[in-house]
Amino acid sequence: MARYIEAYCRLCRRTGTKLMLKGERCFTAKCALERRNTPPGPHSSGKKRRPKVSERGLQLMEKQKAKYTYGMFERQFRRFFKEATRMQGITGGILLVLLERRLDNVVFRLGFADSRSQARQIVRHGHIKLNGHRTDVPSCLVKADDVIEWRKESTRSEYYKTLVEKIGDKDVPAWLSLEKENMTGKVLSIPAAGEIRTNFNEKTIVEFYSR
Ligand code: SF4
Repeated sequence: MARYIEAYCRLCRRTGTKLMLKGERCFTAKCALERRNTPPGPHSSGKKRRPKVSERGLQLMEKQKAKYTYGMFERQFRRFFKEATRMQGITGGILLVLLERRLDNVVFRLGFADSRSQARQIVRHGHIKLNGHRTDVPSCLVKADDVIEWRKESTRSEYYKTLVEKIGDKDVPAWLSLEKENMTGKVLSIPAAGEIRTNFNEKTIVEFYSR
């Protein structure tokens, strides 16, 4: 399975946006973008400003931000976009909702992982059950009333035990619910596009692909 091998912080520095790819570190002063908001590469520390970008470049950047945020590659992201264009409604909003419905994103939103990449790994390693069945496909889409829980075998891990101790501090979005006592999440409803907080502009992504 393909994955980004480039350091996550470089992706943030390239887009000039905090994409929150490294969990708790992103909230600390160790965040690379807080320390050095310049593009990555040789002599980058000497660059005072980012170069001016064309409109097309800005559109591309928004698309890249979305891809990096959800940890997707071009082919898969384009497939999601195509799917969004086939559905009725505003394409940008639909795309956003489709991205948010990914199982790895839901595992992240439930607080079972500090970052989407960690959530993806948890799913891929088969620690999660969706509606009672083990699933290891991070990109599968959840729907209303779906139940997400840990496999019994996985609850013996140190990771799980630590998570149980700190899950009390986590908040989940209104479209999800979490029973902290038994670490079970439920999809209450499919989120509306307006409910989803992002660090990219989905309308610009539609413009990018519409050219
Ligand atoms: Fe790195 Fe997170 Fe800061 Fe991005 S937001 S630069 S991933 S620490």
